[in-house]
Amino acid sequence: MSDASPVIVWFRRDLRLADNPALSEALASGEPVLPVYVFDEEGEGDSPDGAASKWWLHHSLASLDESLKGLGSRLVLLRGSSKSALVELCREMGARAVFWNRRYEPAVVERDTEIKKSLVDCGVQARSFNGSLMQSPLSVANKSGTPFKVFTPFWKHIQNLSTRTPLAKPDALTTPKSLPKGESLESFELLPRLSWADGFNEEWIPGEKGAEKALSLFAKGGAAKYAKDRDTPSVRGVSRLSPHLHFGEISPNQIWHALDRKKHEPYLRQIAWREFAHHLLFHFKDTPSEPLRPEFAAFPWTRNPGWLKAWQTGQTGYPIVDAGMRELWQTGWMHNRVRMIASSFLVKHLLQPWQDGAAWFWDTLVDADLANNTMGWQWVAGCGADAAPYFRIFNPITQGERFDGDGTYTRRWMPELARLPNKYLFKPWEAPAALLEKAGVDLGGNYPMPIVDHGKARKAALDAYAEMRDAR
Ligand SMILES: Cc1cc2nc3c(=O)[nH]c(=O)nc-3n(C[C@H](O)[C@H](O)[C@H](O)COP(=O)(O)OP(=O)(O)OC[C@H]3O[C@@H](n4cnc5c(N)ncnc54)[C@H](O)[C@@H]3O)c2cc1C
Repeated sequence: MSDASPVIVWFRRDLRLADNPALSEALASGEPVLPVYVFDEEGEGDSPDGAASKWWLHHSLASLDESLKGLGSRLVLLRGSSKSALVELCREMGARAVFWNRRYEPAVVERDTEIKKSLVDCGVQARSFNGSLMQSPLSVANKSGTPFKVFTPFWKHIQNLSTRTPLAKPDALTTPKSLPKGESLESFELLPRLSWADGFNEEWIPGEKGAEKALSLFAKGGAAKYAKDRDTPSVRGVSRLSPHLHFGEISPNQIWHALDRKKHEPYLRQIAWREFAHHLLFHFKDTPSEPLRPEFAAFPWTRNPGWLKAWQTGQTGYPIVDAGMRELWQTGWMHNRVRMIASSFLVKHLLQPWQDGAAWFWDTLVDADLANNTMGWQWVAGCGADAAPYFRIFNPITQGERFDGDGTYTRRWMPELARLPNKYLFKPWEAPAALLEKAGVDLGGNYPMPIVDHGKARKAALDAYAEMRDAR
């Protein structure tokens, strides 16, 4: 404990002790360290977290607090606007500095710039660091000095840039003589009132320890087979690190340095997609709501609340789509291959605006991330950077057959179809009546008929695209 004026470390999406530049710099200052988290119901300048993210945040804050207690400190929780909370805390504690790791979402950058100014105006030193990306979006540009819009050149470029060697986890913290009491975690009411998220507990270990465990499991097993298994949703072929990365329980640097660059290139490439998504959002600020390719503003979407609901609840009548949507509801996560199939179905087969799908993902994904979600949806809708050409329309029947050939994934999430043979699992409406009866499938009863006909929906999507093109 120390009487000296403390340095506040303001935790945000960097809920970890290892490779945390703001924390390391605060420790290096030799002053006592005051770790703080401010919960702002309105969001940190961006949209407030969705329900699944709040569930994660609750557990992640609890985990960080526990780790800090292990170092003789604790996490001070405050509520309200971050600016007022920090200015007030500096006054109360006589703090001489506030350090934090940057976030790069445009609205947050704007808000943080104001906070920095307010702190400096009060005579407090405010320093920020890059803790969440391998490369700050400000330091990456193509040969003509403009932002990248295509992934491959971006990937080639960033591979050759140097990255910080991960910083060690501190083994002790000097704390101020007294710490403010702060709020209780429970008072933030982050956990859902419904029992909806109960299943999440079986799937996830939020917090830095959970992230370390997930990386170590993946490095020992899945990483070597990633290129082969990453598109098979029934096997543990992917790292499931996305919520840990989103909340900063692990940094991309740590992953980059933990794996062999040559051996694990296909996986590290995905880490670079995350960097690319942040790069795009930083430079193209309106993309969470506006298409990057402006011609798509005229796309003739046909909003249909009933169809949106059927998609959200996994009742479209297309088993691979419904399996994905139910995995999402029950676990807060969906395999990337199935995310692509399910999101494509919403925007192309059902012609619902991609923004409506993004909003549902925002509320239900534990890894909901403004940069990745925006890029993912714009990619699928054909209106984003390096996007899939609009006319390439996933067939939800053949996608199921190709990526879940033995039906393990679909049967897991769709118990009402579990007894159907593989031949009909992805198109139950083609099965003979006697076979359906034997399998206990009642189309229009315990499982819906397809909400749209694939062939007709495909044609309608192509017509809508032509209408948009002709309107230019
Ligand atoms: C419509 C749609 C919406 C999406 N929304 C999100 C989102 O809100 N949050 C999110 O983290 N990812 C999102 N993704 C990207 C991707 O599906 C997830 O990152 C991935 O499924 C997470 O699982 P994982 O950690 O096992 O991934 P792995 O395959 O193990 O990849 C490792 C990491 O690389 C990054 N990554 C992988 N694929 C992508 C990608 N296509 N784009 C950007 N980063 C990627 C993630 O940080 C991921 O954790 C979305 C994709 C689509 C098609």
